[in-house]
Amino acid sequence: MALLFKVDDSRGSAWKALFEQHAPDIDVRLWPDIGDPALVRYFAAWQPPHDLHTRFPNLDVIFATSAGVDQFDLGELPGHIQVVRMLDPGIAQGIVEYACFALLSLHRQVPLYLRQQRARVWQDRELTPARRRRVGIMGLGNLGVAVTQALRPFGFELRGWARSHKHIDGVQCFAGDEQLKPFLAQCDILICLLPLTDDTRGVLNAQTFAAMPKGAQLINLGRGGHLIERDLLDALDNGQLSDAVVDVLEDEPPSPDHPFWDHPNIWLTPHIGANTSPDTAFEVLLGNLRRHQRGEAMQGVIARHQGY
Ligand code: NDP
Repeated sequence: MALLFKVDDSRGSAWKALFEQHAPDIDVRLWPDIGDPALVRYFAAWQPPHDLHTRFPNLDVIFATSAGVDQFDLGELPGHIQVVRMLDPGIAQGIVEYACFALLSLHRQVPLYLRQQRARVWQDRELTPARRRRVGIMGLGNLGVAVTQALRPFGFELRGWARSHKHIDGVQCFAGDEQLKPFLAQCDILICLLPLTDDTRGVLNAQTFAAMPKGAQLINLGRGGHLIERDLLDALDNGQLSDAVVDVLEDEPPSPDHPFWDHPNIWLTPHIGANTSPDTAFEVLLGNLRRHQRGEAMQGVIARHQGY
């Protein structure tokens, strides 16, 4: 019984070394050295090949090395194969850092002051205190909740939106499509931390932006597919939104003539919010492998019908 990784070379070597040191009973293989495909029971990857289940007839579990699983074609996989997302504490740490950096930058008008600097303008602007800044988080899962906890000490007015109702200390929670507009109406800064599913694709669109207060700001840390890029450009051009921090795009990397590259109101980063590090993720992955070997439920198994 083998665990096959399809990851880049340096991460592959790190995973293999960790298993050799701490769990030598597990036969770890690195793509493309797959050995006998019939022995592969566990598969771990960020980008899977299309013919996964036919190539490995005895596959039981797919471990995404990412928090999201939108890169897997779930409809194509036989129902008995479990798909597990990565609950690496290092990912949560990375997303919290990015969300704080982006949120505090927008809150303190750093994009505006950088534009002023380039224009040699020395001009202070009115400061909105954190207690009067309404910050909304779309997605109150593992990462969304971690971000709310990190932001609480600053004193922002926190709002959150998810599919189901939640009770989170210090956060006014909204749920479902019917509460989306009331939620958006209270978001001076909106952070997207949703999974990409059929229901959430394109959720950051013209109607969404129109439902937010004029001059609001956006941070997209989810997936590129959440954002209708043309609608963001229009909303920035007509002043409905004032700035956006974008970490993820529909097509990564973007073409050299992509309009986001040099838009004065967009900060663009190359999908760096967080990534999985074998160092911090190893215990999580090994814990799940052991649970599966003992016939117990694993942590982070996605609900196939929901897509996350
Ligand atoms: P979780 O599955 O833990 O949480 C997802 C949250 O989204 C849940 O609160 C869920 O609601 C909510 N949600 C899902 N569908 C809907 C919907 N249709 N309407 C309203 N709310 C919805 O995911 P994580 O927090 O672990 O990760 C979230 C996403 O962050 C990932 O899927 C990925 O896209 C992105 N990400 C980006 C990274 C980057 O580098 N930029 C790195 C890591 C992740 P409910 O609680 O009711 O189920």
